[in-house]
Amino acid sequence: MGSRYISIVVLLMISACGTSEEQLARRAEKIHESILTVDTHCDTPMDFRDPEFDMGVRHDDGCVDFPKMKEGGLHSEFFAVFTGQGARNDSAFNKVHTDALFIFNAIHKNVEKNSSIAEIALTADDAYRIRENGKIAAFIGVENGYPIGLDLMKVKEYYDLGARYITLCHTRNNDICDSSNDPAGPESNGLSEFGKQVVREMNTLGMMVDVSHISDKSFYDVLAVSKAPVIASHSSSRALCCNPRNLSDDMLLALKQNGGVIQICLLSAYLRTMEPNPEMETKLNELRAKYGDYDTISSEVRKSQMREEFRGIRKKYEKLATVSDIVDHIDHVVQVIGIDYVGIGTDFDGGGGVEGCKNAAEVKNITIELLRRGYSKKDIEKIWSGNIMRVLRQVEKTAEKA
Ligand SMILES: [Zn+2]
Repeated sequence: MGSRYISIVVLLMISACGTSEEQLARRAEKIHESILTVDTHCDTPMDFRDPEFDMGVRHDDGCVDFPKMKEGGLHSEFFAVFTGQGARNDSAFNKVHTDALFIFNAIHKNVEKNSSIAEIALTADDAYRIRENGKIAAFIGVENGYPIGLDLMKVKEYYDLGARYITLCHTRNNDICDSSNDPAGPESNGLSEFGKQVVREMNTLGMMVDVSHISDKSFYDVLAVSKAPVIASHSSSRALCCNPRNLSDDMLLALKQNGGVIQICLLSAYLRTMEPNPEMETKLNELRAKYGDYDTISSEVRKSQMREEFRGIRKKYEKLATVSDIVDHIDHVVQVIGIDYVGIGTDFDGGGGVEGCKNAAEVKNITIELLRRGYSKKDIEKIWSGNIMRVLRQVEKTAEKA
């Protein structure tokens, strides 16, 4: 081998090593330019109670707005109509129904106000078409089935308003099913009779059933009832972080059987078992002492004050997980059930966001880490959109047949 040839090889090697990070960033950039990227959960609409809030403007705090999405190459987002679980009687159901309609309306208004850059998506085809036109595809999901109350007709009402998934419950049991986090323990032994009707109605209409937040028994009950694949819109792997909110390996295997998808959540406490953080706990306890339980606060003003202070405390004291932790969870799911059943549901503006990926402008760092670990473009496309869009299409088909 001639010395000239060797020096060319050495030169090539040096230039390849010296720029490998840049190369990864460039490859990630290119991938985001050519695929659809979808995040299946953000709680940004909680900010829409402020009539001045405009998704078209870049906000200093807050994780999601249209400019940040553009910056990060995030093309589609499921905006959550979230309501905290409260009392379960007629007047409470009326109130939460009104609240839900208010949030639906605020999402639509924010998208209409920015119609040159965003559009509501109702189907998988919509998402690809809107992305093709260079706009942001805004989906709607309902987090917590509480505003259904005991009225099955409400499911269609929310579908007609654009919702394409419903997370059956939140951190407390409701009339649909048991939660994974209710300190009171199980109440319906999983999915209630009414809950079964809700799941069937969602199958008939073409809405994805979201199993995030629900108890293990509720999860298996849903799989037994649902005729279509289900999603966990923002959940992580229990094998890596033991939290009842996360899915165990057995649950992952059942999810694969069902053809569904788990969307890894970017909330630090669901990604990594955190060291005790007494400073933050003290501050959060003080906050709870001052305002009471968030879910039961009646005044919207106090609610948003508490939310703001809560954010401030977390910003100051929380030790965040990292992008590497997110991809550890993706790796784990891929090892247990394969590449076709995993995606990303950030939970941005609901506590989601890690070191290196704190907001929508930084999601490309996940892609960079996936590339670093050897995932192909095809794999990355599945993670960012292919898997969730396959499920949505399947759900649409099941509804057509109903
Ligand atoms: Zn949630």
